[in-house]
Amino acid sequence: MQFLKESMLELIIQTSTNLPPDVRTAMAWALRTENPHTQSGQALAIIGQNIDMAHQDEGAICQDTGMPTFEIKTPIGVNQIALRKETLEAVAEATKRGKLRPNSVDSITGKNSGNNLGPGTPIFHFEQWEKPEIEVRLILKGGGCENKNIQYSLPCPLDHLGRADRDLEGVKKCLLHAVWQAQGQGCAPGAIGVCIGSDRAGGYHLAKQQLFRTLDDTNPDPVLDKLEQEVMEQANKLGVGAMGFGGSNSLIGCKITAANRLPASYFVTVAYDCWAFRRLGVLLDAQTGAITQWLYRDPNRPVDHLIAEGTGFQLTGREVRLEPPLSEEKVRALKVGDVVLINGPMVTGRDAAHHYLLHHESPYDMRGGILYHCGPVMLKEDGQWRVKAAGPTTSIREEPYEADIIRRFGLRAVMGKGGMGSKTGAALKENGAVYLHAIGGAAQFYARCLPQVHGVYMLEELGVPEAMWVFEARNFPAIVTMDAHGNSLHADVAATTGAELEKVGAK
Ligand code: SF4
Repeated sequence: MQFLKESMLELIIQTSTNLPPDVRTAMAWALRTENPHTQSGQALAIIGQNIDMAHQDEGAICQDTGMPTFEIKTPIGVNQIALRKETLEAVAEATKRGKLRPNSVDSITGKNSGNNLGPGTPIFHFEQWEKPEIEVRLILKGGGCENKNIQYSLPCPLDHLGRADRDLEGVKKCLLHAVWQAQGQGCAPGAIGVCIGSDRAGGYHLAKQQLFRTLDDTNPDPVLDKLEQEVMEQANKLGVGAMGFGGSNSLIGCKITAANRLPASYFVTVAYDCWAFRRLGVLLDAQTGAITQWLYRDPNRPVDHLIAEGTGFQLTGREVRLEPPLSEEKVRALKVGDVVLINGPMVTGRDAAHHYLLHHESPYDMRGGILYHCGPVMLKEDGQWRVKAAGPTTSIREEPYEADIIRRFGLRAVMGKGGMGSKTGAALKENGAVYLHAIGGAAQFYARCLPQVHGVYMLEELGVPEAMWVFEARNFPAIVTMDAHGNSLHADVAATTGAELEKVGAK
């Protein structure tokens, strides 16, 4: 199969950089129907621009290129060992070209393999079928949304909804709860793949498989079809909105399957995927490995832009310019809802860096600075590091550390997505700092706001995504969602959407 590696590489690159048409259609609908003057509307405008930029420049749509998961069907007689080997080589090549972020980390040592290969990564599921060609489907699902997957064991009590029983009403409560609990942390608007039944492990597998259905298809089972439609309608009334900012677009898809279960178990399993819903597929000639057909997309049809020339995210002139190092006075004057434009240096830090900083001095002076929760895609070109993709990561993972980090290092802002909890909120208030919300997944949009790399710390020890990168920001927009006076947009949206859930539960 002389063309196999090339075909797999093309599949990976297209999946990472070019959203499939059904997801584009869903996002275009969200853009059309959300009020452009709201925070959700602004977030969607940035997301739309980002999707267009990624396609135009063949860049990663989101810096978190996820766990590559291949679902492969082969005719009898195809050598699956050889197929796997060529695919692994294609994954390593795509990583080298900056189309995938090095995402495979040794769970014991924390060492990043650097090429997306390692025990358990990528994931392969092989099946035999009786057709003559090979079918390969690929999904790239990032950590932010993966962390919002959830499994319910019915009957169970649910926040705001009361008891979920072992019936379809109970299942529906679980699904609305799943959307609610994700808030913006999984980069809403998202889609859910669902399995009713099976065992714990099987439930997660089947739920993720539902994400291979197109968003606009119809469930062949009329009972499940009705449930899908009801969940779509009710979830979009909750008011979670894009990035959890509050708004009318919270869910772009709900795809449900059912599997038999043990009499004693009743699991409802939800695989949550973000708006950066990257999945594609191909049919391959079983002799040569050449692509004979694309699934989900027609490569001969031009890709429609989501944002018309000259529109998209608009500056109003009311933005607050932030030029680190920031004074306490400047930061205390900020309030929830302010849009800021950052110009100047900022440093990245995520899970490993936070853990390190708890026990060590910082290699970079962060006083008055902005700590950006971001694991970028970086490439060295002509001896210089360049930012290839650099959206925010989910901040709540740093909640156990952040208050101490703010105090110890004199930060004036932390920036990420999805908001943080009450411990960080109290530290912001006490120390005169704010939480800035960048738009999750907008990796190409933000890469263009980071024209220069000043330096990098702990690259060898932590790997590319976890190292501390010092970037120069130019007109980098973000929204204040937690201020130095104890206000939090995230707490407000969680409360209002919780009240909406209660109405559903009371019916
Ligand atoms: S869009 Fe958000 S949730 Fe999705 S992969 Fe990117 S950062 Fe993760």
